[in-house]
Amino acid sequence: MALAPSSPWPLVVAGGGAAGFMAAISAAEAGLKGVLLLEATPTPLAKVLISGGGRCNVTHACWDPRDLVGHYPRGGRALLGPFSRFATTEAVEWFKAHGLELVQEADGRLFPRSNRSSSVVATLREAALAAGVTLRTGASLQTAEPLESAGFALRLRSSEGARALHCRRLLLATGGHPSGRQIAASLGHAVVPPLPSLFTLALKPNPLQGLAGVVMDPVGLQLELPGERFRQQGPVLVTHWGLSGPATLRLTAFAARAMKEHGYRVQLRVDWSGGRRQQDLEAAFEDLRRDHARRQLGSSRPWPELSRRLWLHLLADGGIGASGRWAELRRPQQKALIEALRSSLYTVGGRGPFGEEFVTAGGVPLGEVNLATMASRKQSGLYFVGELLDVDGLTGGFNFQHCWTSGWLAGRAIAASADFVEDGEHR
Ligand SMILES: Cc1cc2nc3c(=O)[nH]c(=O)nc-3n(C[C@H](O)[C@H](O)[C@H](O)COP(=O)(O)OP(=O)(O)OC[C@H]3O[C@@H](n4cnc5c(N)ncnc54)[C@H](O)[C@@H]3O)c2cc1C
Repeated sequence: MALAPSSPWPLVVAGGGAAGFMAAISAAEAGLKGVLLLEATPTPLAKVLISGGGRCNVTHACWDPRDLVGHYPRGGRALLGPFSRFATTEAVEWFKAHGLELVQEADGRLFPRSNRSSSVVATLREAALAAGVTLRTGASLQTAEPLESAGFALRLRSSEGARALHCRRLLLATGGHPSGRQIAASLGHAVVPPLPSLFTLALKPNPLQGLAGVVMDPVGLQLELPGERFRQQGPVLVTHWGLSGPATLRLTAFAARAMKEHGYRVQLRVDWSGGRRQQDLEAAFEDLRRDHARRQLGSSRPWPELSRRLWLHLLADGGIGASGRWAELRRPQQKALIEALRSSLYTVGGRGPFGEEFVTAGGVPLGEVNLATMASRKQSGLYFVGELLDVDGLTGGFNFQHCWTSGWLAGRAIAASADFVEDGEHR
């Protein structure tokens, strides 16, 4: 492979993850000769491989870009333009055209038919090879300096030591790794400080400790921060340390920045009744008192979907014996139980060990990027894609969708650059 400074690569892509691969393949497939893809580690696409519990949730069956943008706590409506050109429909077609069929699950998530993330990795690697992308692993981009004559002088670190090379276009696809943010900053970009999004909640103290494994759906969650409230409703999983599940992850994604500002110590109000009205719960309790007066409280719940373990916990928490009869339940006890079902208050003391789909919020601000091409507005010849941008999506395939979209747009735009076409850099 020619790495001499005298022969600049038309395009160097730094970062062999989902976004970098999509960008490199798209540029090469659009006819650009000389695409070099650098990956710092020995294993490209490592996150794709571990994603979705080893199945890779490639995207989400959210077909209308106007709905799709609602799944990006950071990005949001600014992504309407990019998604209008390449969103779920185009991603599904793209993978199909490259030999990978995606299958939709009941909740809208799309996975490869094989149910193995290795199929996605193989598809991207084969597509890159077929398109003529040169992949170099174990090569990490250290610095990039703009050249007076256009293009960049790059310094790499690889197993063979430090190397230098030149390129005409530089595309940064380094994900949440600090190196990409540092290079972006050195080229004149502001960088929104990184912070975790999509995490589980640790309760301290954790009164739900004995309930690990309980799933309730729907549950209403409300984070109470000074001057701000964040609400979500949906499935919640009780874990050994606190709360997880889709509603929790959605809540923490939207509240990521506010929670960080409060040191992850906040009050959480939980509606275990999933939005049942006070009078409906009172009526359900009255029915039980009347129809099941002799039944034990622990053996009949106010509604069948209420987890038995949770119900027993709420009884114990209220100092109410589970062996007591419904007829013996005193009015203040009933009031307290309904209150606990509708509005239990817990103290969040930190983040749980791992999110289901841990992503980094923050990065290069969208305002500094032309979202039609993913080109920098600060530095000519520079492009950004994927998680390095200040975009992050909810759990469910939305993070990869942004990688496919931004990668495809950048690759196509770079290949179509007027100077490449004029200079005959196309096949
Ligand atoms: C456990 C887990 C499961 C997930 N599951 C899903 C899922 O099912 N669906 C979904 O949509 N999202 C999922 N995500 C999120 C998703 O993985 C990321 O949003 C996505 O991988 C970001 O892609 P990227 O290409 O921008 O960055 P990355 O995948 O992080 O790729 C960046 C690459 O750049 C390399 N690199 C960094 N610095 C340099 C440098 N200086 N020079 C050269 N190379 C460099 C890194 O080694 C890395 O390979 C999951 C995340 C995790 C952690």
